[in-house]
Amino acid sequence: MSLFDIRRRDCLAREGVFSQGDLEVRTPGIIDMHQISPALDGEVWTNVPLAASAGFVSRYHRSGDGSPVVVHPLGKEPVTSGDLVVVANWHTTLARPPDFVRFLAALKGRLPPDTAWYAPGSALPTTAALLVYAGFDLFDYRAVDLETAKGSFCLPEGIFPGDLVESGVCTCEGCTSGNIGRHNRLALERELALIRRFVEESRLRDLVESRCRSDPHQVAIMRLLDGEESFMEPYTPVARPTPFIATTSESMRRIEVTRWGRRVAERSPPPIHEVAVLLPCSARKPYSTSLSHHKFTRVVSGRAHELIVTSPLGLVPRELERVYPAGHYDVPVTGHWDKEELGLISSVIAGYLGRHHYRRVLAHLEGGALEAARMAAEVCGISLEATPECHPTDPASLTALDAALEGERRRPTDMVRGVLAWQFGVLVETRGMIIRGRPPQERVEKGGRIFFTVDARTGLLRPTFDGWALLPEGYRIGIDAFTPRGDILAPGVVSADEGIREGDEVLVLGEGVSATGRAAMGGPEMLRSRHGVAVRVRKIKSD
Ligand SMILES: [Zn+2]
Repeated sequence: MSLFDIRRRDCLAREGVFSQGDLEVRTPGIIDMHQISPALDGEVWTNVPLAASAGFVSRYHRSGDGSPVVVHPLGKEPVTSGDLVVVANWHTTLARPPDFVRFLAALKGRLPPDTAWYAPGSALPTTAALLVYAGFDLFDYRAVDLETAKGSFCLPEGIFPGDLVESGVCTCEGCTSGNIGRHNRLALERELALIRRFVEESRLRDLVESRCRSDPHQVAIMRLLDGEESFMEPYTPVARPTPFIATTSESMRRIEVTRWGRRVAERSPPPIHEVAVLLPCSARKPYSTSLSHHKFTRVVSGRAHELIVTSPLGLVPRELERVYPAGHYDVPVTGHWDKEELGLISSVIAGYLGRHHYRRVLAHLEGGALEAARMAAEVCGISLEATPECHPTDPASLTALDAALEGERRRPTDMVRGVLAWQFGVLVETRGMIIRGRPPQERVEKGGRIFFTVDARTGLLRPTFDGWALLPEGYRIGIDAFTPRGDILAPGVVSADEGIREGDEVLVLGEGVSATGRAAMGGPEMLRSRHGVAVRVRKIKSD
């Protein structure tokens, strides 16, 4: 009987503890399969090639007797929660990116999420980050030992000739004693420890984006996974506690970025203003805390809907500027956007302007942002009014903007309405609601009742029970007939909206009891798991 206790998730990656009998391994980590299942080595037909045909697989593939279960993308093995699953030959997919992605989607789609995944002979200091990113938890020393046999010296940055052992690039006990094999094993252990830390901090993607550089196959795998939105998006949290670092061209394609563009286009409520003004972003986040945005907001003065043009998110309406990742991203600023970047950003702007109509659209922009806005306007068939005389913050430019808005009606920015639409996909009547307090203690009130509090870390709104009464549908979780005393565990969940993602605010409904809280895993994963916290509960109420 084995158990996999997942403590933290970072998209497909997990950090936790796998246990079987007396054995307990921190994951991602190393196991010795001889110790766990001495019989597995003697089993035949447990390493059918991953690319084998369905006929071949059904005829020859064997899953072993019990746990661990050897799985195949085309297999029909009985796998239950907590099982250790073995994906034989996974190392062969590292050189075949389309297979890596296809087989992974097939296996992750079929097997319970709370199973521990072992990839034999696959982990090197160079490949471990990507393997964990893809949802593998357990590895062995076989791949590094093989490199040792070839006389190679393994580092996360690449595989080098063995003479590097004496060069001083590493000072581990293996290197100081001239033992390459010892160094190679330690290098893998060190990399796994680092990966665990990145998963704990919900930043594994940053590590993968740097580690994959030395191998075009790895870059291809990451790009292809980003393209598999229907597979990857349900695993991607809506918010993270750490900043969103976008420093590579792959960052532009991250699920968080595509999800942002889609939600801004599809979930944004009808604009309150008849005029829109496109503004440049600022290095400081949220934008309104920057000097330049102080100036813009003072000049616009409520006479236009402020829309910030930015890379990699494309477009950030002012009311969403604090929502993750808009309030938390960091990009290298050069003022230059390449063709790919321009194409992606203009498509987000076009997605928004194509759905939301304004009488006038002003472009208070320059450089790449202005070019992206022009491309978008052309797609939508609208004309832009360019207002800057020179740099957008220059007094002459600000005077031109002021003059262009002369006579336009003033309306306030409705942060609550905008965030609720982005977060829950519903349009809520917010008349009379006011935001009281200062971060991190802000709350949304009306008539002395609190409807929402603002999560200062993510910019999302946390509904109270009164707040949930305003949200007619979605983001609900049904539980079995029990009264929760704390967090809701996955086995207690009987229904969950499919759209729920890790980090979403949710309403838990049971018999005579309801609770508010935050989802600790996606809705589909709650229903398929038999272990782990599904909802971190904030308040419980008996009806
Ligand atoms: Zn060393």
